[in-house]
Amino acid sequence: MNKWMEQANCKGMDPSSMGGKDVFFQDYVGYDNDPTYVDSICAQCPVQVECLGYGIENKLEGVWGGVFLKLGRPYESANKHKPDEWWDDLRSRAVDA
Ligand code: SF4
Repeated sequence: MNKWMEQANCKGMDPSSMGGKDVFFQDYVGYDNDPTYVDSICAQCPVQVECLGYGIENKLEGVWGGVFLKLGRPYESANKHKPDEWWDDLRSRAVDA
């Protein structure tokens, strides 16, 4: 486990993970199928930028940094619910990192 993962807001929260050991959201499934719930947790996560970078670099699938990725690339249809302000906030955090 990378050091930044220790600070993950989602640590142990993913109900689809094995025994709650994984710290990342594999999907938006669960949480009453409300992706904005996951978005809000990621938007307040102190390691959002690191998480997104990790998902992109490792070509992962699932929610990384609050962005649903497939093969490490944002998957448009799974992210279309996000308002412009959500992306603006992520961009500002990335610039500050
Ligand atoms: S950005 Fe989201 S998925 Fe990534 S560590 Fe934080 S809460 Fe978890």
